[in-house]
Formats: sequence, structure tokens, C-alpha cells
Amino acid sequence: MHTLRLLLGDQLNAQHSWFDQTNDDTYYVMMEMRQETDYVRHHVQKVVGFFAAMRAFAKELEKQGHRVIYLKLNAKNNLQDLTKNLSQLIKEHNIERFEYLLPDEYRLDEQLNEYCQTLDIPWKAYDTEHFYTTRDELTDFFKGKKTYLMESFYRHMRKKHDVLMDGKEPVTGQWNYDKENRKTFPKQFKLPDRSSRTHDLSSLVQMLEAEGVETMGKIDAENYRWPITRREALADLQIFCERFLTQFGDYQDAMHTEVVFGYHSLISFALNIKLISPKEVIDRVIDTWQEGKEAVPFAAVEGFVRQIIGWREFMRGIYWAKMPDYAKLNYFGHSRKLPQWYWTGDTKMSCLRHAIKQSLDYAYAHHIQRLMITGNFALLTQVDPTAVDAWYLGIYIDAIEWVEITNTRGMSQFADGGIVGSKPYVSSANYIHKMSNYCSSCHYKATQKTGDKACPFNSLYWNFYDQHRKKLEKNPRIGMMYRTWDRMDAKTKTALLQQADKYLQEIDEL
Ligand SMILES: Cc1cc2nc3c(=O)[nH]c(=O)nc-3n(C[C@H](O)[C@H](O)[C@H](O)COP(=O)(O)OP(=O)(O)OC[C@H]3O[C@@H](n4cnc5c(N)ncnc54)[C@H](O)[C@@H]3O)c2cc1C
Ligand code: SF4
Repeated sequence: MHTLRLLLGDQLNAQHSWFDQTNDDTYYVMMEMRQETDYVRHHVQKVVGFFAAMRAFAKELEKQGHRVIYLKLNAKNNLQDLTKNLSQLIKEHNIERFEYLLPDEYRLDEQLNEYCQTLDIPWKAYDTEHFYTTRDELTDFFKGKKTYLMESFYRHMRKKHDVLMDGKEPVTGQWNYDKENRKTFPKQFKLPDRSSRTHDLSSLVQMLEAEGVETMGKIDAENYRWPITRREALADLQIFCERFLTQFGDYQDAMHTEVVFGYHSLISFALNIKLISPKEVIDRVIDTWQEGKEAVPFAAVEGFVRQIIGWREFMRGIYWAKMPDYAKLNYFGHSRKLPQWYWTGDTKMSCLRHAIKQSLDYAYAHHIQRLMITGNFALLTQVDPTAVDAWYLGIYIDAIEWVEITNTRGMSQFADGGIVGSKPYVSSANYIHKMSNYCSSCHYKATQKTGDKACPFNSLYWNFYDQHRKKLEKNPRIGMMYRTWDRMDAKTKTALLQQADKYLQEIDEL
């Protein structure tokens, strides 16, 4: 019986039980398609990274003796649509059974679900064997609860998977070391070397150009830096553990004009396309700490483990609990366009200029840049969350909807009204000034609230709270802000609101 097994571009899990045995009757199909390059405008490094990793994965499968059908983007018989291609292949190869791995994106899950209903051959969907949790595990865990609290989910995960535990208690007696992970870069510092491995992916870039695929951002195609094979992903993980983990915690939130990657792991792309598994990553990090060679502080290990076993799995659970409605949530009813300079970085605001230009150059920004610079500004300027989502979904190397939308629409834009986070992540210049050196090279003054040189974050911050008072003042984590606002005299308040108005008008006129 001829079986066709579909592998999507983010399903490159070489450890999957599908590959335990070779079988001449089983064809694995992988496809580069306009359906996937065009549903949003992606960063060029992202499209190239996906295709390069898919091609390398297909080669590896063939080497192991599996039969692989690989449709390149420019192949004559590529119909550029997932289900049209499948139908063509089923006919062409006399396929009698169709199998696929459960997609992580709702869009593809629906498409395949609907497609399978039309098939007159048997079909089956399998788990990707990547995550710690199943799609519905978070929903079951919070059954009957009004709110989803990441911290309680995280503790449950630590217990369930016996991660950093001593019996039923956390190994050090404390669950969370977040407060210790908030240092800023000192005046003088030198980061350890990153891997020097690169690839020449010029031919892929040329193919995209020839096919007219519209992308954003820059690429140094001859020196492509992101891992495209499992071996490379494991090597990057090793480098992170040996050279960066010790200070990951300290500088997790820090930002600097001379720093792009800092002490971060840069593992999200490899994880999200499943070259490596979250368990492998966590085990490696914990082993490094236990071996003691690198003198890794426990706060760094706990902080890192929380991102993966906590936030990453939590976001996936929220996604499956709340889609498809989640993609339409707009709690504040925001509707402004995203300023055009989000696609160029050409703004006088130093923090936004750096975070955006870096994202365009490397398809990467770390969590705090995404949350407290670009996300913060979009929320304060009341941008339509759909526009914000599209930007984040396109620009980052690791952006796949399940983890992008929950972070963007949820954590960053609070458009879900508090499903992911308990309060909106907004700040005035104060936070950015404290956590970075951006303000020292800015046209604006971080300490100024009104006037020509006033930092826009300051007035927009108060304007945001003032406009959304009805929705926010009862939030126990925010009440304090309203008490501060109410204590300001009327003149100060009016000046702040007028200043914010001026900045919002400037954005509208762009
Ligand atoms: C607005 C916004 C959008 C984001 N979009 C994405 C996205 O599209 N894809 C994505 O993978 N991450 C996203 N994140 C989460 C986070 O910013 C990235 O995972 C991280 O910056 C990737 O870099 P790193 O591998 O060096 O991470 P590190 O800082 O080294 O962290 C280690 C790992 O923890 C996981 N992680 C950390 N924070 C989160 C989080 N909040 N949610 C899920 N996993 C997390 C990632 O797998 C990451 O690789 C977003 C965050 C924000 C605020
Ligand atoms: S002054 Fe304001 S706009 Fe300029 S870098 Fe600081 S926070 Fe950003």
C-alpha cells in the first residue's frame, strides 16, 4: 500500500518515530509553496532559513534510505497550494493512504482537516512528538478556573516532568528567580564569541527574487548564520551553554546600542522548526549547571528553563484553547496603522531605531526589545493589533503564528483583555532609560515629558492610561498608576495629553 506522509516546513524532527524504519512504500513529501511565502510578508532570512533547513532535512532523509518527494518553489509541477499539490501527488503516485503530522498553526490544521474530509482514501494525523504538552493539556489544567496563570502552569510542568525538583519541592526551595535577572550592561564589557559557522545561500535568494517573492529585511546570503541542520542547532546549543548561559540571567532584559544577541540562546528558530526538542535544550542546560564547569548561577538556569517549559508551552496551550477567535481580539478597540518606519527603522527615537534596524538586519530582537520597545510603542500609539501581528509574524526568524500571536496580541498588546498577561506591558521612558543606553544617543530627552524634545513614551504612557481608564482602573496591578495620575494637577495632565495628541497626530500624518 503506497502511503504519502506530509512534512511541513516547521516539522523537521529527525527524532520522530516515523523515521525509525524505512519503507519503500512510504513517500515523504515536502513542499516550498507560494501559499507559505505569501500569507504575510516575511523577512528574507526567514524564508531562506526555512527552505534551506527543509532541503537539508530532505537530503538527510534520503541518505537514511527514505523516499522523499521534494517540490522546490520553482518546480514546474508545483501548484503552490498545499492541498492542490497533495491531490496531484496522490494521483500521480497511486497513493492509497495519507498521513500528516498535526500542524502547529490553526490555518494549516483547518486546511488539512477540511482536505481530509474530501479524501476517498484512509488518512491519519500524528503528533509531532516535539512538545512537552499536548494541544489541550493547558485547557484541561485550567478547567473551571477564570484566569490562566503562567506561574501555576509552570510549577505544574516542573513537578510533572521532574525538572529542577527535589521530590515535590523546587530543588533550591524557591520557584522563581526573575527578580535576580535584571542587570544592565556595564560601561565596559566584552561578549564571548558566537559560532562562526555560515552558509552560502545565495542561490536560494536568487530563486526568491526570480520568482517574485516579496520579502523584507536584509540578508548576507553568503554568510547565513542561522542553523539549518540538527547538528548545527546542537552545536549552537552547546556554545550557548559553554559561553553564554552563565550570564544569560543577569543580562536577559538588558539592551545596548552595540549589542544584538547579548547572552541570549538564539535557539528559537531551531526549536520552532523542531530541529531540536525543548527537552533536549532543557536537559543540556541543566547538565551544564550540574557539571559545574561553567559556574552557572542557578538564577540563569531557572530563568531559562521557565522560558521553555513555562512560557513556550503556555503560549502553545493558550493558542489551542483560544483559536480561532483569539486572532480577532481587540480589547481596547485600537485601530491606528503601524507607522511606516517600522519597515525601515528611520525614526528619531533611538530605542525604536535600534530595535527595528536590528530586526531588519538580523531577523532577530530579544524578548524585551520586542515587548518593551516595538510592542510598547505600538500599544501606546493604539495600533490595530492585526497590523502589529502581521509585522511580528513577518519580521522574526522564529515567528510562527502559535507563538507569535500569543506573544504579540496577548502579552504585548493586551488585545486579549488579560488571557496571557495580567496587565498591559507599557512603560514610559523611565524603564527604557534604566535597561539600556539607547536614550543617550536619542534626539529626545528621556526625562522630559512635554516640549519639543520630550520623549514620546512619557506622554503617550499617561494618555494610554487616561483613555483606557474604564477598562483598567479596577485591575489591582494598575490601581497605583491611577492614584499617581489623579494626584497630578490639572495643568500637568492637560499638557501631557496635548503632548500625546501631538505625537499621535504626527503618526497619523506620516
Ligand atoms: C511581541 C513578541 C513577539 C514574539 N514572537 C515570538 C515568535 O514569533 N516566536 C518565538 O519563538 N518567540 C517569540 N517571542 C518570544 C521571545 O521574544 C523569543 O522566543 C526570543 O526572543 C527568541 O530568542 P532566543 O532564542 O535568543 O531566546 P532566549 O531569550 O535565549 O530564550 C530561550 C527560549 O525560550 C523560549 N521563550 C522565551 N520567551 C518566550 C515567550 N514569551 N514565548 C514563547 N517562548 C519563549 C524561546 O523558545 C527561546 O528560544 C515573542 C515575544 C514578544 C514580546
Ligand atoms: S528618549 Fe525616549 S525615544 Fe529616545 S531612546 Fe529613550 S525612551 Fe526611546
